[in-house]
Amino acid sequence: MSSERVLDIHCSCGAVHLRYRGVPIRHFICHCKHCQASMAWLESQGGTSSRHPTGGDQTLFVFSDDIEVVTGEDQIGAYSVIRRVRTPRIYARCCHTPLGSTFAKPLGRFTALKTVGVRDKSALPAIREHVNVDSAAGTLADDGLPRQRGMGPLMGQIAWELRPWSGHHKHRWARWTRSELIILEGDPD
Ligand SMILES: [Zn+2]
Ligand SMILES: [Zn+2]
Repeated sequence: MSSERVLDIHCSCGAVHLRYRGVPIRHFICHCKHCQASMAWLESQGGTSSRHPTGGDQTLFVFSDDIEVVTGEDQIGAYSVIRRVRTPRIYARCCHTPLGSTFAKPLGRFTALKTVGVRDKSALPAIREHVNVDSAAGTLADDGLPRQRGMGPLMGQIAWELRPWSGHHKHRWARWTRSELIILEGDPD
């Protein structure tokens, strides 16, 4: 875990403003097929994506209840490019900017924030690794970051790092899962 950060996240048209305040769990680049398809759908709708120069999806794993919607809650929607997904993607409907993905109940306490809308990138913690490199599109250039096939090793490390935190957020995450933010709009595919 890194130190506490405050991140202001804006969609590209400015209607949606999220503020994150907390200790991020992990910053990584995901190369799974779901991330790639999700970014491609946003781009096909004229939006930006959270694509890192390596082709992966730049992701900051955080506690959901550390995210506050400052403006634009009515513009926040969710979508999925695969059926029966457990991790709906959250985006700004106004301009198709990715905001994050979260887990369907009861796991909504975590969100994989998309950092494309973070104006002050220097406030982000360092990227720790590439994950799901076995499904990466193209060849990954060597950037010195560790690489993992699949997601399992990362989730194991996260669970280990979170041990001292267990229970800390338990009473608060229900607020997020009750939120109107989780509105499935159907299957773009
Ligand atoms: Zn917007
Ligand atoms: Zn992914």
